[in-house]
Order: sequence, then C-alpha cells, then structure tokens
Amino acid sequence: MKDGLAVLAGTLITGDERPPIKNALVLVRDGRITSVGRRAEREIPADMTVVDASDGWVTPGLIEGHAHLTSFASAAYHPDATGPYYDAPPLLDEFAKHGVTTIRDTGGPELGALRTLQTHDRDWPRLFGSGPNLDGLPGGPWKGMWKTDSVAEAVEFVAREADAGVDFIKVYAWMPLDMMAAVVEAAHRRGLRVAAHVGGQLVTARDAVRVGVDALEHIRIGPELLNDDGLSKYAALEQRPRDAMADTRYWRYIDPDGAEADDMIAYLIAHGTYLTPTFAVHEAILRQGIDHSHAPAEVTAAINLHRDATSAKPVKTPEEIALGRVEMAAMLRFVGRAHDAGVRICAGSDTPSGSVTPGLGIHLELELLVEAGLSPLDALRAGTGRTAALLGRAAELGTVTNGCRADLLVLDADPLTDITATRKIRGVFRDGLRIA
Ligand SMILES: [Zn+2]
Repeated sequence: MKDGLAVLAGTLITGDERPPIKNALVLVRDGRITSVGRRAEREIPADMTVVDASDGWVTPGLIEGHAHLTSFASAAYHPDATGPYYDAPPLLDEFAKHGVTTIRDTGGPELGALRTLQTHDRDWPRLFGSGPNLDGLPGGPWKGMWKTDSVAEAVEFVAREADAGVDFIKVYAWMPLDMMAAVVEAAHRRGLRVAAHVGGQLVTARDAVRVGVDALEHIRIGPELLNDDGLSKYAALEQRPRDAMADTRYWRYIDPDGAEADDMIAYLIAHGTYLTPTFAVHEAILRQGIDHSHAPAEVTAAINLHRDATSAKPVKTPEEIALGRVEMAAMLRFVGRAHDAGVRICAGSDTPSGSVTPGLGIHLELELLVEAGLSPLDALRAGTGRTAALLGRAAELGTVTNGCRADLLVLDADPLTDITATRKIRGVFRDGLRIA
C-alpha cells in the first residue's frame, strides 16, 4: 500500500479564479493536496500511486449546493423503518457515482438523520446541513419544519441547533422580517450563516439581505424587480394557496436588463450575498418530470416516495408551461448578468424536489448556468470553489490548492468546450480515496 497519490492531468481545472493548468501534477498525502503545479517542474515521489489522467481533465469534486437528502434518512418519512440510514444509502452512492464529493443539505426533518449521515464511514460524499427549516406561521408544508410565531422561540431554536452542531440555519417563506432579523443576529453570534428561501410575497429578497441573510436559495428575487407596468400586471394575477413558497410568475413581467435589475445586482454585490438559483428544479417542473430510467430501482423508489410525501409534482397546463419558459428565460438572463457583474452564484439543484435526480441533478444545473451565460469554467467554479466558500470552507474544500482535501473528479472529455462532459466520469476521489 503506497502512501500518497500523484495525479497527472492533461488539463487541471482548479475550481478557483486561476486559469486551467496544462500537463499538471497534483500530489496528495493523508487525504490532502500537498503540491499543485506543472508536470515538468516536479518529480513524482517513488512512494506514491500514480493516477494517469494525462489524456484527461481533472476538476475538484462537485459540490451539490442545494439538496434535501436528510429527508430520506429521517423517520418522519419512514415511520416503519428501523435501520439507521433508511433509504439514504442508494442515493449517496448515486451522488458519489456522479462526481459529487460534498453535499449542502438545505433542510430535512430532524438533525439526528444529518448527524448519522455525517458520521458514516462509507465511501459517500461528506455532508453539511441546516437541520430543520425554521419558519413563521402557518409555515411551509414540508415534514419536520420548525414553525413558530414567537421571535423568542425562534432565537431559542437557533441556540439549540447551534449547540447540536448544525452547519448553517435555513429560514423559510412565511417568516416575518422582525423574526428574520433576530434569527440572523442569533445565528451570526454563533458563527452560523443564514440561508433563506424568501422573496415574492412576505419578505422580499432585498429585505432579507438588508437584515443580514447571507445566502438566497432559489431565484426568488421578485416583485422588487418589476417596473410599474409589470407590478400592476402581477398584482392582477389570482393569488394561490402556496404562492409564498412557489410563485415565479412575476418573472413574466421582469425586464432582466432593466434599471431595477441593475439596482438589485449592485445591492447583492455590495452585501456579498450568495445566490443559488436552483434552475434544475424549475427545468424539471417545466419538463413535467425527469427521466429516471437509468437510475437504480431503489433511487427511483426514493424519489417517488419523496414526491408522494411532499405532493411536489405540480401538473401544469401547456399554457402555463409556455409562460414558465418565458419566466425561465428572464431568470437565466438575470443570473447571467448578475454573474458578469460579480454576484456570487452557486450551483445547487434542489434534488429531489421536482423529482430532480440525486447526483445527475448538479450536472443539469451546471448546464443551465452555462445557458444563463456563464462560461463552462465559471459554471465549474460555481459548482466547486464558490459553493465551498458559501459553506465557509474555502480553505479546506472545493479547489485544487495546497492544504485542501483531495476531492478530485477525473473526466474523459473537455468540460471547458462542452459542459456536458462533466457527465463523462472516469474516477471520483474524496479525501484522496477513490469512491467511484
Ligand atoms: Zn430546497
């Protein structure tokens, strides 16, 4: 058994702002990267195992920036289950197989499931998570959300979850602004960031950022981008029961090149806000489902279980789908412009919401970010180094840098000319160990 890895890369994509390195050599010891440079400039230590991808492309392992994996490991979804992981293992295998080495879990019913999955000794991606979503009343419809109309109780929740070891706090769509401000203050005091699924109804994305929310989940920046004409058209639409959570109809009337969009982009840059648009879930809804025929039967069963447990299968008329495409085009344009201007865009698919496939979902998201106007290199940065920064782990994860964990993806085709090449996977390493 040799001591370390020497990875030869035809092209190395580092995951940060550095340009790709041709004919690169990456050395790994004890699961950490110890040297990054050009092959010609370094000897390969004799005690290292060589991974020869000199005809291939090497990137950091992908980080799925928005997923709800702990749901599957929670007793709330499996009242009769007795095992410690319930249905999560086949899904974690699926993430690993598709090059995901880290998952940011944005809310599941209970912290126990997160802890169990974080402390496993299997060849799975590492997991960071928020524990239950925190919401006001009446609150979102998902199982295991923690809801209150008391600011004091919400602050106590943050202290309790911080004690229990959550990695960040996630707030939801029915939380009033005064509670959000108090939650952000309590979380920041404990060194935890706050991610928010807000915008469109109760609290605008802009107000959430103003009171200190660090990360916006989904592209729910909304009515504040409408001009007067768009605002009156949006106000004339019929309100529906779950609009606070799921409405994106304002995007029909938003001009993504307008002055309001420019103003919001400047606001997000000034506050250093992270934005994870989760285009994949919108795309999946517009396609009215994703083809899971390639997936193992247990994976399909778990996705269907989640769909049935959350009734998250919106059926749309052809007219709604056509309008949804108009909305999607405006969202993509806004995010492309925001990226160009310097907003921190991250990649997350919201799997399994909308029946987005665990593992493959992040590849769809990268493709949609390219459709939004990011270069393939920038999309890869969004799916690696920047999402590590969103997790507060930039020094440790997401880039091919000395001292970082050796999470590496070896590809058979060039993702810089065609982002779908991220699907052509030759090998996946986490902490320097091959997991797929
Ligand atoms: Zn989500």
